[in-house]
Amino acid sequence: MGKRKLGFGFMRLPLLDRHDDGSVDIELVKQMVDAYIERGFTYFDTAWNYCNGMSECAIKEAVVDRYPRNAFTVTTKLPSFMLACAEDRDRIFNEQLKKTGAGFFDYYFLHDTNEDTLKTFNKFDCFAWLKEKKAQGLVKNIGFSYHDTAELLDQLLTENPEIDVVQLQINYLDWENVTVQSRKCYEVAARHGKPVFVMEPAKGGTLARVPNDVETMFKEHEPEMSVPSWAIRFAASLDHVQMVLSGMSDLEQVLDNTSYMSDFTPLTEEEIQMCHKAADMINSTIAVPCTGCSYCVPTCPMNIPIPKYFALYNANLQEIEGKSWTAQTLYYTHLREVFGKASDCVKCGKCESMCPQHLPIRTYMEDVAEHFEK
Ligand code: SF4
Ligand code: SF4
Repeated sequence: MGKRKLGFGFMRLPLLDRHDDGSVDIELVKQMVDAYIERGFTYFDTAWNYCNGMSECAIKEAVVDRYPRNAFTVTTKLPSFMLACAEDRDRIFNEQLKKTGAGFFDYYFLHDTNEDTLKTFNKFDCFAWLKEKKAQGLVKNIGFSYHDTAELLDQLLTENPEIDVVQLQINYLDWENVTVQSRKCYEVAARHGKPVFVMEPAKGGTLARVPNDVETMFKEHEPEMSVPSWAIRFAASLDHVQMVLSGMSDLEQVLDNTSYMSDFTPLTEEEIQMCHKAADMINSTIAVPCTGCSYCVPTCPMNIPIPKYFALYNANLQEIEGKSWTAQTLYYTHLREVFGKASDCVKCGKCESMCPQHLPIRTYMEDVAEHFEK
Protein backbone atom coordinates (compact mmCIF):
# COMPACT_ATOMS: atom_id res chain seq x y z
CA MET A 1 0.00 0.00 0.00
CA GLY A 2 1.36 3.41 -0.90
CA LYS A 3 1.69 6.14 1.70
CA ARG A 4 -1.09 8.21 0.22
CA LYS A 5 -4.20 8.23 2.37
CA LEU A 6 -6.90 8.15 -0.32
CA GLY A 7 -8.62 4.84 -1.10
CA PHE A 8 -10.84 4.23 -4.13
CA GLY A 9 -14.15 2.77 -2.90
CA PHE A 10 -15.85 0.62 -5.56
CA MET A 11 -19.27 1.12 -3.97
CA ARG A 12 -20.84 3.92 -5.96
CA LEU A 13 -19.39 3.33 -9.40
CA PRO A 14 -20.81 5.18 -12.42
CA LEU A 15 -23.76 3.35 -13.99
CA LEU A 16 -25.02 3.03 -17.54
CA ASP A 17 -28.61 2.80 -16.29
CA ARG A 18 -29.33 4.68 -13.08
CA HIS A 19 -32.19 2.29 -12.27
CA ASP A 20 -29.83 -0.72 -12.43
CA ASP A 21 -27.13 -0.71 -9.73
CA GLY A 22 -25.28 -3.53 -11.53
CA SER A 23 -24.93 -1.69 -14.85
CA VAL A 24 -21.39 -0.46 -14.10
CA ASP A 25 -19.95 1.85 -16.77
CA ILE A 26 -16.71 -0.09 -16.93
CA GLU A 27 -15.05 2.05 -19.59
CA LEU A 28 -15.47 5.13 -17.42
CA VAL A 29 -14.27 3.16 -14.37
CA LYS A 30 -11.09 2.26 -16.31
CA GLN A 31 -10.43 5.96 -16.99
CA MET A 32 -10.98 6.77 -13.32
CA VAL A 33 -8.66 3.95 -12.22
CA ASP A 34 -5.97 5.13 -14.64
CA ALA A 35 -6.16 8.71 -13.35
CA TYR A 36 -6.02 7.49 -9.73
CA ILE A 37 -3.04 5.18 -10.27
CA GLU A 38 -1.18 7.72 -12.43
CA ARG A 39 -1.26 10.11 -9.47
CA GLY A 40 0.44 7.55 -7.22
CA PHE A 41 -2.53 5.99 -5.40
CA THR A 42 -2.95 2.24 -5.04
CA TYR A 43 -5.77 1.23 -2.66
CA PHE A 44 -9.06 -0.31 -3.87
CA ASP A 45 -11.96 -1.29 -1.64
CA THR A 46 -14.79 -3.55 -2.74
CA ALA A 47 -17.32 -5.98 -1.24
CA TRP A 48 -19.55 -8.84 -2.32
CA ASN A 49 -22.76 -6.82 -2.46
CA TYR A 50 -21.54 -3.50 -3.90
CA CYS A 51 -23.10 -2.54 -7.24
CA ASN A 52 -25.50 -5.43 -7.03
CA GLY A 53 -22.65 -7.95 -6.96
CA MET A 54 -20.75 -6.38 -9.88
CA SER A 55 -18.15 -4.36 -7.94
CA GLU A 56 -15.71 -7.27 -7.44
CA CYS A 57 -15.98 -8.06 -11.17
CA ALA A 58 -15.21 -4.39 -11.93
CA ILE A 59 -12.03 -4.66 -9.83
CA LYS A 60 -10.89 -7.49 -12.11
CA GLU A 61 -11.76 -5.74 -15.33
CA ALA A 62 -10.56 -2.24 -14.48
CA VAL A 63 -7.62 -2.97 -12.18
CA VAL A 64 -6.37 -6.57 -11.89
CA ASP A 65 -6.39 -7.38 -15.61
CA ARG A 66 -4.67 -4.08 -16.49
CA TYR A 67 -1.96 -3.56 -13.87
CA PRO A 68 0.80 -5.73 -12.34
CA ARG A 69 -0.27 -7.21 -9.01
CA ASN A 70 2.30 -5.18 -7.03
CA ALA A 71 0.89 -1.89 -8.39
CA PHE A 72 -2.30 -2.01 -6.31
CA THR A 73 -3.87 -3.13 -3.04
CA VAL A 74 -7.25 -4.85 -2.86
CA THR A 75 -9.64 -5.18 0.06
CA THR A 76 -12.85 -7.15 0.06
CA LYS A 77 -15.14 -8.47 2.75
CA LEU A 78 -17.09 -11.45 4.04
CA PRO A 79 -20.86 -10.77 4.03
CA SER A 80 -22.69 -12.15 7.07
CA PHE A 81 -25.99 -12.37 5.23
CA MET A 82 -24.55 -15.02 2.86
CA LEU A 83 -23.46 -17.35 5.67
CA ALA A 84 -25.79 -20.31 6.27
CA CYS A 85 -23.08 -22.81 7.29
CA ALA A 86 -19.32 -22.81 8.03
CA GLU A 87 -18.51 -24.08 4.53
CA ASP A 88 -19.99 -20.87 3.08
CA ARG A 89 -16.95 -18.91 4.32
CA ASP A 90 -14.56 -20.70 1.94
CA ARG A 91 -17.15 -20.93 -0.81
CA ILE A 92 -17.66 -17.14 -0.80
CA PHE A 93 -13.95 -16.42 -0.37
CA ASN A 94 -13.01 -18.63 -3.33
CA GLU A 95 -15.72 -17.03 -5.43
CA GLN A 96 -14.31 -13.59 -4.53
CA LEU A 97 -10.82 -14.71 -5.57
CA LYS A 98 -12.32 -15.80 -8.86
CA LYS A 99 -14.42 -12.64 -9.38
CA THR A 100 -11.54 -10.27 -8.64
CA GLY A 101 -8.77 -12.42 -10.13
CA ALA A 102 -6.55 -10.90 -7.42
CA GLY A 103 -4.82 -14.16 -6.38
CA PHE A 104 -4.79 -12.96 -2.76
CA PHE A 105 -6.29 -10.08 -0.81
CA ASP A 106 -4.11 -7.43 0.76
CA TYR A 107 -6.88 -6.83 3.30
CA TYR A 108 -9.87 -8.99 4.11
CA PHE A 109 -12.61 -7.78 6.46
CA LEU A 110 -15.70 -9.14 8.13
CA HIS A 111 -18.29 -6.85 6.58
CA ASP A 112 -20.58 -4.53 8.53
CA THR A 113 -19.77 -5.96 11.96
CA ASN A 114 -22.35 -5.03 14.54
CA GLU A 115 -24.19 -6.68 17.42
CA ASP A 116 -26.56 -8.44 15.03
CA THR A 117 -24.09 -9.67 12.37
CA LEU A 118 -21.65 -10.71 15.10
CA LYS A 119 -24.06 -13.49 16.05
CA THR A 120 -23.49 -14.99 12.60
CA PHE A 121 -19.75 -14.28 12.49
CA ASN A 122 -19.31 -15.89 15.93
CA LYS A 123 -21.59 -18.82 15.14
CA PHE A 124 -19.27 -19.74 12.25
CA ASP A 125 -16.05 -18.82 14.07
CA CYS A 126 -15.13 -16.21 11.48
CA PHE A 127 -12.37 -14.49 13.47
CA ALA A 128 -10.44 -17.80 13.72
CA TRP A 129 -11.16 -18.43 10.05
CA LEU A 130 -9.70 -15.00 9.16
CA LYS A 131 -6.48 -15.96 10.96
CA GLU A 132 -6.32 -19.22 8.98
CA LYS A 133 -6.63 -17.32 5.73
CA LYS A 134 -3.79 -15.04 6.80
CA ALA A 135 -1.63 -18.04 7.81
CA GLN A 136 -2.28 -19.56 4.38
CA GLY A 137 -1.00 -16.34 2.74
CA LEU A 138 -4.29 -15.77 0.96
CA VAL A 139 -4.86 -12.60 3.00
CA LYS A 140 -2.09 -10.24 4.09
CA ASN A 141 -4.01 -8.24 6.72
CA ILE A 142 -7.24 -9.01 8.54
CA GLY A 143 -9.86 -6.73 10.03
CA PHE A 144 -13.49 -5.80 10.09
CA SER A 145 -15.67 -2.93 9.03
CA TYR A 146 -17.73 -1.74 11.94
CA HIS A 147 -21.04 -0.05 12.67
CA ASP A 148 -21.94 -0.15 16.35
CA THR A 149 -21.05 1.32 19.74
CA ALA A 150 -17.58 2.17 20.98
CA GLU A 151 -18.19 -0.16 23.91
CA LEU A 152 -18.72 -3.19 21.68
CA LEU A 153 -15.71 -2.19 19.57
CA ASP A 154 -13.57 -2.14 22.71
CA GLN A 155 -14.78 -5.62 23.59
CA LEU A 156 -14.12 -6.95 20.08
CA LEU A 157 -10.59 -5.57 19.91
CA THR A 158 -9.83 -6.91 23.39
CA GLU A 159 -11.07 -10.39 22.42
CA ASN A 160 -9.33 -10.34 19.02
CA PRO A 161 -5.94 -8.66 19.45
CA GLU A 162 -4.66 -10.26 16.22
CA ILE A 163 -6.86 -7.94 14.15
CA ASP A 164 -4.60 -5.74 11.98
CA VAL A 165 -6.95 -2.89 11.13
CA VAL A 166 -10.49 -1.60 11.68
CA GLN A 167 -12.67 0.24 9.21
CA LEU A 168 -14.86 2.89 10.83
CA GLN A 169 -17.47 5.38 9.71
CA ILE A 170 -15.84 8.71 10.45
CA ASN A 171 -16.95 12.09 9.20
CA TYR A 172 -17.43 15.50 10.71
CA LEU A 173 -21.22 15.14 10.69
CA ASP A 174 -21.16 11.89 12.70
CA TRP A 175 -18.24 12.85 14.93
CA GLU A 176 -20.47 13.33 17.98
CA ASN A 177 -23.51 11.43 16.67
CA VAL A 178 -24.89 9.33 19.53
CA THR A 179 -25.64 6.35 17.26
CA VAL A 180 -22.65 6.30 14.92
CA GLN A 181 -20.17 7.41 17.60
CA SER A 182 -17.37 8.31 15.17
CA ARG A 183 -15.19 10.00 17.77
CA LYS A 184 -15.64 7.40 20.45
CA CYS A 185 -14.97 4.50 18.07
CA TYR A 186 -11.88 6.25 16.70
CA GLU A 187 -10.57 6.75 20.23
CA VAL A 188 -11.12 3.06 21.08
CA ALA A 189 -9.22 1.94 17.96
CA ALA A 190 -6.40 4.36 18.76
CA ARG A 191 -6.20 3.08 22.33
CA HIS A 192 -5.81 -0.47 21.00
CA GLY A 193 -3.08 0.76 18.65
CA LYS A 194 -5.04 -0.23 15.54
CA PRO A 195 -4.74 1.65 12.27
CA VAL A 196 -8.09 3.06 11.18
CA PHE A 197 -9.46 2.97 7.65
CA VAL A 198 -12.31 5.42 7.16
CA MET A 199 -15.54 4.74 5.28
CA GLU A 200 -18.27 7.24 4.52
CA PRO A 201 -16.03 10.32 5.07
CA ALA A 202 -18.58 12.36 3.11
CA LYS A 203 -21.55 10.43 4.53
CA GLY A 204 -22.74 9.04 1.22
CA GLY A 205 -22.40 12.38 -0.58
CA THR A 206 -24.22 14.40 2.09
CA LEU A 207 -21.06 16.39 2.79
CA ALA A 208 -20.49 17.03 -0.90
CA ARG A 209 -23.76 18.94 -1.21
CA VAL A 210 -23.97 21.04 1.91
CA PRO A 211 -26.42 23.89 2.60
CA ASN A 212 -25.49 27.27 1.10
CA ASP A 213 -24.40 28.87 4.37
CA VAL A 214 -21.93 26.02 5.01
CA GLU A 215 -20.56 26.23 1.48
CA THR A 216 -20.10 29.98 1.87
CA MET A 217 -18.18 29.47 5.12
CA PHE A 218 -15.81 26.98 3.47
CA LYS A 219 -15.38 29.01 0.28
CA GLU A 220 -14.60 32.21 2.16
CA HIS A 221 -11.84 30.41 4.00
CA GLU A 222 -10.35 28.53 1.01
CA PRO A 223 -11.93 29.58 -2.32
CA GLU A 224 -9.94 27.06 -4.36
CA MET A 225 -10.87 23.96 -2.31
CA SER A 226 -13.98 21.91 -3.10
CA VAL A 227 -16.68 21.33 -0.50
CA PRO A 228 -16.13 17.51 -0.43
CA SER A 229 -12.41 18.08 0.16
CA TRP A 230 -13.26 19.32 3.65
CA ALA A 231 -14.87 15.97 4.48
CA ILE A 232 -12.00 13.86 3.15
CA ARG A 233 -9.36 16.08 4.75
CA PHE A 234 -11.17 16.08 8.11
CA ALA A 235 -10.93 12.27 8.29
CA ALA A 236 -7.39 12.15 6.89
CA SER A 237 -6.19 14.67 9.48
CA LEU A 238 -6.67 12.14 12.30
CA ASP A 239 -3.33 10.62 13.38
CA HIS A 240 -4.43 6.97 13.49
CA VAL A 241 -6.22 7.14 10.15
CA GLN A 242 -4.17 5.37 7.48
CA MET A 243 -6.71 5.34 4.68
CA VAL A 244 -9.79 7.37 3.76
CA LEU A 245 -12.11 5.73 1.27
CA SER A 246 -13.96 7.77 -1.25
CA GLY A 247 -16.72 6.08 -3.25
CA MET A 248 -15.90 7.95 -6.43
CA SER A 249 -18.57 8.05 -9.14
CA ASP A 250 -17.00 10.15 -11.88
CA LEU A 251 -13.67 11.32 -13.23
CA GLU A 252 -14.08 14.79 -11.80
CA GLN A 253 -14.20 13.38 -8.27
CA VAL A 254 -11.04 11.36 -8.90
CA LEU A 255 -9.21 14.44 -10.18
CA ASP A 256 -10.41 16.61 -7.31
CA ASN A 257 -9.66 14.08 -4.55
CA THR A 258 -6.23 13.19 -5.90
CA SER A 259 -5.28 16.86 -6.31
CA TYR A 260 -5.28 17.63 -2.59
CA MET A 261 -4.50 14.11 -1.31
CA SER A 262 -1.29 13.73 -3.35
CA ASP A 263 0.56 16.07 -1.06
CA PHE A 264 -1.78 16.05 1.89
CA THR A 265 -1.71 18.81 4.50
CA PRO A 266 -3.79 18.13 7.64
CA LEU A 267 -6.44 20.66 8.61
CA THR A 268 -5.47 23.24 11.21
CA GLU A 269 -7.24 23.36 14.57
CA GLU A 270 -9.25 26.37 13.34
CA GLU A 271 -10.34 24.40 10.23
CA ILE A 272 -11.33 21.38 12.34
CA GLN A 273 -13.52 23.68 14.43
CA MET A 274 -15.10 24.96 11.21
CA CYS A 275 -16.03 21.36 10.35
CA HIS A 276 -17.72 20.93 13.73
CA LYS A 277 -19.60 24.17 13.17
CA ALA A 278 -20.63 22.93 9.70
CA ALA A 279 -21.95 19.73 11.32
CA ASP A 280 -24.23 21.74 13.60
CA MET A 281 -25.48 23.77 10.63
CA ILE A 282 -26.13 20.70 8.45
CA ASN A 283 -27.72 18.61 11.19
CA SER A 284 -30.42 21.22 11.52
CA THR A 285 -31.47 20.68 7.86
CA ILE A 286 -31.38 16.90 7.21
CA ALA A 287 -34.60 14.95 7.63
CA VAL A 288 -33.27 11.38 7.14
CA PRO A 289 -29.55 10.76 7.83
CA CYS A 290 -29.28 7.87 5.34
CA THR A 291 -25.80 7.28 3.85
CA GLY A 292 -27.12 5.45 0.76
CA CYS A 293 -25.10 2.30 1.53
CA SER A 294 -28.01 0.14 0.22
CA TYR A 295 -27.51 -2.66 2.74
CA CYS A 296 -31.25 -2.54 3.40
CA VAL A 297 -32.34 -2.88 -0.22
CA PRO A 298 -32.01 -6.68 -0.77
CA THR A 299 -33.99 -7.35 2.42
CA CYS A 300 -37.15 -5.55 1.35
CA PRO A 301 -39.96 -7.92 0.31
CA MET A 302 -41.77 -5.03 -1.37
CA ASN A 303 -38.80 -4.06 -3.58
CA ILE A 304 -38.76 -0.51 -2.23
CA PRO A 305 -35.61 1.44 -3.27
CA ILE A 306 -35.22 2.75 0.28
CA PRO A 307 -32.10 4.99 -0.02
CA LYS A 308 -33.28 6.47 -3.31
CA TYR A 309 -36.56 7.53 -1.70
CA PHE A 310 -34.74 8.98 1.31
CA ALA A 311 -32.38 10.95 -0.95
CA LEU A 312 -35.34 12.36 -2.86
CA TYR A 313 -37.14 13.19 0.36
CA ASN A 314 -34.12 15.00 1.84
CA ALA A 315 -33.50 16.91 -1.39
CA ASN A 316 -37.14 17.88 -1.71
CA LEU A 317 -37.39 19.21 1.81
CA GLN A 318 -34.37 21.43 1.17
CA GLU A 319 -35.82 22.69 -2.09
CA ILE A 320 -39.57 22.63 -1.80
CA GLU A 321 -40.30 26.00 -0.21
CA GLY A 322 -42.56 27.92 -2.57
CA LYS A 323 -42.32 25.38 -5.42
CA SER A 324 -45.27 23.55 -6.93
CA TRP A 325 -43.06 21.18 -8.92
CA THR A 326 -39.64 19.65 -8.29
CA ALA A 327 -37.47 17.15 -10.16
CA GLN A 328 -37.60 14.90 -7.09
CA THR A 329 -41.36 14.58 -7.37
CA LEU A 330 -41.08 13.51 -10.98
CA TYR A 331 -38.27 11.08 -10.21
CA TYR A 332 -40.35 9.55 -7.42
CA THR A 333 -43.24 9.03 -9.84
CA HIS A 334 -40.92 7.21 -12.25
CA LEU A 335 -39.41 5.03 -9.54
CA ARG A 336 -42.74 3.95 -8.09
CA GLU A 337 -43.72 2.59 -11.50
CA VAL A 338 -40.72 0.24 -11.47
CA PHE A 339 -40.25 -0.44 -7.74
CA GLY A 340 -42.47 -0.61 -4.69
CA LYS A 341 -43.79 2.74 -3.52
CA ALA A 342 -43.25 4.03 0.00
CA SER A 343 -46.81 3.24 1.05
CA ASP A 344 -46.27 -0.43 0.03
CA CYS A 345 -44.11 -0.85 3.14
CA VAL A 346 -45.55 -3.72 5.22
CA LYS A 347 -43.49 -2.71 8.27
CA CYS A 348 -41.69 -6.06 8.48
CA GLY A 349 -38.58 -4.30 9.87
CA LYS A 350 -36.12 -6.46 7.90
CA CYS A 351 -34.43 -3.35 6.51
CA GLU A 352 -33.86 -1.88 9.97
CA SER A 353 -31.89 -4.92 11.16
CA MET A 354 -29.43 -4.32 8.28
CA CYS A 355 -29.09 -0.55 8.63
CA PRO A 356 -25.63 0.47 9.90
CA GLN A 357 -27.07 3.88 10.83
CA HIS A 358 -29.83 2.25 12.95
CA LEU A 359 -32.46 4.35 11.23
CA PRO A 360 -36.18 3.90 12.01
CA ILE A 361 -36.83 3.18 8.33
CA ARG A 362 -40.46 2.20 8.80
CA THR A 363 -41.31 5.56 10.35
CA TYR A 364 -39.36 7.46 7.72
CA MET A 365 -41.12 5.47 5.00
CA GLU A 366 -44.45 6.77 6.31
CA ASP A 367 -43.05 10.32 6.04
CA VAL A 368 -41.92 9.68 2.46
CA ALA A 369 -45.34 8.29 1.51
CA GLU A 370 -47.09 11.23 3.09
CA HIS A 371 -44.76 13.66 1.33
CA PHE A 372 -44.80 12.22 -2.20
CA GLU A 373 -48.09 10.33 -2.46
CA LYS A 374 -50.55 12.78 -0.93
S1 SF4 B 1 -40.13 -2.45 6.79
FE1 SF4 B 1 -40.93 -1.69 4.83
S2 SF4 B 1 -39.16 -0.83 3.79
FE2 SF4 B 1 -38.38 -2.14 5.44
S3 SF4 B 1 -38.01 -4.16 4.49
FE3 SF4 B 1 -40.08 -4.20 5.34
S4 SF4 B 1 -41.44 -3.56 3.67
FE4 SF4 B 1 -39.34 -2.96 3.07
S1 SF4 C 1 -31.60 3.22 5.21
FE1 SF4 C 1 -29.76 2.52 6.31
S2 SF4 C 1 -29.16 0.57 5.27
FE2 SF4 C 1 -30.58 1.66 3.91
S3 SF4 C 1 -29.26 2.85 2.56
FE3 SF4 C 1 -29.83 4.21 4.25
S4 SF4 C 1 -28.18 4.00 5.73
FE4 SF4 C 1 -27.98 2.25 4.31
